[in-house]
Amino acid sequence: MSTDVSIPYIVMNRLSDLRKTRQLFHEDPYMRSFESKVLEAVEANGNVFVVLEETCFHPQGGGQPADTGHIEGENSKLEVLDTQSIGGVIIHISRMKLGEIRVDDLLRGEISWDTRYTYMKQHTASHIVFSAVQRILKIDDLQYMGFELGKEKARMDINYGKPISPEELRGIETFSNTICLESRPVKSWQTTREEAEGTYGDRLGLTDVTPAGKVRVVEVQDWDTSLCSGTHVGSTSECTPIRILGRFRLQKGVERLEFTSGKAAFQYIERDLETLNQLGRLLSIPVEKLSERVKRLVEDT
Ligand SMILES: [Zn+2]
Repeated sequence: MSTDVSIPYIVMNRLSDLRKTRQLFHEDPYMRSFESKVLEAVEANGNVFVVLEETCFHPQGGGQPADTGHIEGENSKLEVLDTQSIGGVIIHISRMKLGEIRVDDLLRGEISWDTRYTYMKQHTASHIVFSAVQRILKIDDLQYMGFELGKEKARMDINYGKPISPEELRGIETFSNTICLESRPVKSWQTTREEAEGTYGDRLGLTDVTPAGKVRVVEVQDWDTSLCSGTHVGSTSECTPIRILGRFRLQKGVERLEFTSGKAAFQYIERDLETLNQLGRLLSIPVEKLSERVKRLVEDT
């Protein structure tokens, strides 16, 4: 759970001159544990704000929640409650459980893997679903208006002028699951905005607010290419199945699409199947005859 702890001024002051943290989660998103030296540790407001030379804790940002977990030394242990990045310096917002830590201590960190792996699947699913939406709605320049990941489900907001129909939603889900079952490789790499723009042009959905300089390109083979700094799985098969949960109208021209993937999607499917089975038992008919019977019941009332 992220704590939403703001970083006190005294901490910001002490950390402002530190060099950027090496981001191990980009070198290997499957890395769960690592060792690193402490560059700075500041106690404030009952928390310890720890900066390491390198980390696989992903900070909150770009719609992806912060990693949590723990870091420990020979005689110390801290619970990491939240992870934030200030100008590329990654800050582990922690609670001291045992002992104390000092600059240059060598610590071992481990992220809460189940939660992170869920985010990796949901994040990759968002790329798969977004391109399925573009293809089903036949809009090449469709833009994200917002995006947020959760453990149970994720959502994306898109600039579409009318409600997405139930048939279109089914098409998006079917298309997305086809891509999952094809086990397409997912790759990411660092480049510059200028190079990415030169190679991929309009397909990246760049806007005036896209920062210049270094960016990360994420590619689902022959399906989706976009700029994204989150963590992703290596194959679309890991997102199986993808379930589109529904759509809502946010404001004029903005549709919100809710979806989920992997284990969380199975739980939604099991819930829906159980509902159908219960209805079948109530009406004493097989599930495949439910819609015909309910249609007649509605017509008769
Ligand atoms: Zn992403």
